[in-house]
Amino acid sequence: MIRNILLATAALAIVTTVPAGSAPRRAAPAAPATLPASNPFAQPSTLPWQTPDFSRIKDSDYLPAIMAGMAEHKREVTAIANQSATPTFDNTLGALEKSGLLLERALLAFNAVNGANTNDALQAVDTRTSPLLAAHNDFIYLNAKLFGRVRYLRDHQAELNLNPEQARLLDVYYKQFQHAGAELPAARQVQLKAMNQRLSTLQTDFSQRLLEAANAGALHVTDASALAGLSEQQIAAAAETAKGRKLPGYVLPLQNTTQQPSLESLTSHATRQQLFEASINRAERGGANDTRNIIREIAQLRAKKAALFGYTNWADYTLYDQMAQNRQTALGFLTRLAPAVSAKQHREAEDIRALARSQGATFEVTPADWNFYTEQIRQQRYAIDSDKLKEYFEFNRVLEDGVFYAATQLYGITFRERKDIPTWSPDMRVFDVIDADGKELALFMIDPWKRDNKNGGAWMSNLVNQSYLRGTKPVIFNVENFTKPAPGQPALISWDDVTTMFHEFGHALHGMFAAQAYPTLSGTSVARDFVEFPSQFNENWALDPKILPHYAVHYRTGQRIPQDLVDKLLRARTFNQGYEVGEVLEAARLDLDWHSLPASAPMQDVDKFEATALANSGFDTADVPSRYRSSYFLHIWSNGYSAGYYAYPWTRMLGQDTFAWFQQHGGLTRANGQRYRDMILSRGNTQDYAEMYRAFAGRDPDIQPYLDYYGLSGATTAPPPPPPATPAPTERGK
Ligand SMILES: [Zn+2]
Repeated sequence: MIRNILLATAALAIVTTVPAGSAPRRAAPAAPATLPASNPFAQPSTLPWQTPDFSRIKDSDYLPAIMAGMAEHKREVTAIANQSATPTFDNTLGALEKSGLLLERALLAFNAVNGANTNDALQAVDTRTSPLLAAHNDFIYLNAKLFGRVRYLRDHQAELNLNPEQARLLDVYYKQFQHAGAELPAARQVQLKAMNQRLSTLQTDFSQRLLEAANAGALHVTDASALAGLSEQQIAAAAETAKGRKLPGYVLPLQNTTQQPSLESLTSHATRQQLFEASINRAERGGANDTRNIIREIAQLRAKKAALFGYTNWADYTLYDQMAQNRQTALGFLTRLAPAVSAKQHREAEDIRALARSQGATFEVTPADWNFYTEQIRQQRYAIDSDKLKEYFEFNRVLEDGVFYAATQLYGITFRERKDIPTWSPDMRVFDVIDADGKELALFMIDPWKRDNKNGGAWMSNLVNQSYLRGTKPVIFNVENFTKPAPGQPALISWDDVTTMFHEFGHALHGMFAAQAYPTLSGTSVARDFVEFPSQFNENWALDPKILPHYAVHYRTGQRIPQDLVDKLLRARTFNQGYEVGEVLEAARLDLDWHSLPASAPMQDVDKFEATALANSGFDTADVPSRYRSSYFLHIWSNGYSAGYYAYPWTRMLGQDTFAWFQQHGGLTRANGQRYRDMILSRGNTQDYAEMYRAFAGRDPDIQPYLDYYGLSGATTAPPPPPPATPAPTERGK
């Protein structure tokens, strides 16, 4: 996961993505127009690396700094736009890249603490500033004079003698303005504004109706026997939820995906089927919470908006700055995967049917039953004693002898802990990162333990952005949510946690090796279908035969992890992936099909459209339904992932192909690491991504390593036959 990466972390296009917390909010106080010199953000921090001084910053300092930062940035942008001098690269784009420093200082620190260490006061600041920051972005990209200067540069590019990074920066700015509608004739701009307003209303409506639909769609039962298989705690929680809703009996709330967690434990086929149907029909009940009329309109309006810009569909309009670049490439990726994935889906479905028959099932097995039988097969074939496994994963050892060690082997960097940098939590550790030539490269912080005031998940972000233009080096942090050890106990973490550490550190490396003049292009400010590539690639080193034995050492005995445990980890990785990978690929296909409609297409019948799209997808959608149906696919209708859901599997594909490249060239070596650092990790967004990849690998990315990683290639090692007939368990999950 990556969150809080400010897209285009630079002065422009600042996007805050901190999700709303559930804590009550109080109104933020009004802020003065100018920032007093006593505010810690008034000047760049004097700490090493300009790290924000968290020993001085108070919660009440953020709002005035952000407000003053927006005001200052507006003055700077206005001055750049209104100057009478002929546009030059430096007086326009160079000046923009140097502007907004106060706002950026305040926002980077604010987003870090609001995500990892929040409270009511910080959340109130977030509520207050989010819409203002969106308007601030519009102020820049809808500024006609500013666009005029950028267009002048574009028209005179041949005379400007730009270096490749400057040419890329001009291209990025120009297209962002163009994409916002700056180049459209006035009449079309009027149409565009009306469309944007309508789309914004529809998107908000969609998410609100969906929230209601999910609440109302929860499964309600009055007889506890229907819930057989759930643990006592789960049944008690269901009773509590019912009480909260003033209902008799029990309520199982819905989570956002098609599959529901309880489906793996419920022993009654009838209850499973009811819960599953409650899930897939949540937003299709014909009442006030039905989302189908909204999404038909969104789909059509997006197609019309794309047409205003001369694109044949929304996917092509929106993928312009991605690695895939257009609908055809993204669709081709999904289509090429379909035969191998659907074959695995069919094999898994056969396993499940055989197990159900062996247990005397008299019903036809449906997707509602999938996780119930899958979980039994997993227990029998791949059961790993996770407590025993944890004894080999002590947090500090994983960090220093695993994550850091792999980076030293590959990239030559070393780490020196320092205790003098203030942080937002005493849980954190801070390191100078020293380059192979002995020079200071970056500062790295890690905040590992779960706290009540920390958002869920794990993420990476910057506290200071790298820029040669500004003379700043990267200050990077990773946040995780691991269970904190009791005082005096060893900090043992799970295998999932280990993988997460390598993942987030992959993002950190992408940020630390940044080598750009211009912050807009620096480090992890890259496309959605590229940003998860370095992180997913880095996960692979956790299991590397040179890395794993170096860190996976028993915390008490000092013995290396036994090979049979390692083998189990490897084998478990491919289990049930026809389902888990397939449901994501199917959702990606559904997303792309909705966003392939031409402007001339009539409003669609949602159910028919979805059925056709899935039937044409080439996946086994009868056994493995899409992870989201259209009517509750929040990512694509209101969360900014329209035509972009494919990015999740796409970046995994890049990560696995790169790992295969390493294996073909000798694996974990300094030479391989240096090449990858030079050609990918240090490049930010300074090059077309496909060209960048081709330069590194010597070819286009290949899907085969991705299929192999998940055991999706046809001729994988056959799993053992289904387990012998056993009575269905009734007391699971205790
Ligand atoms: Zn990530």
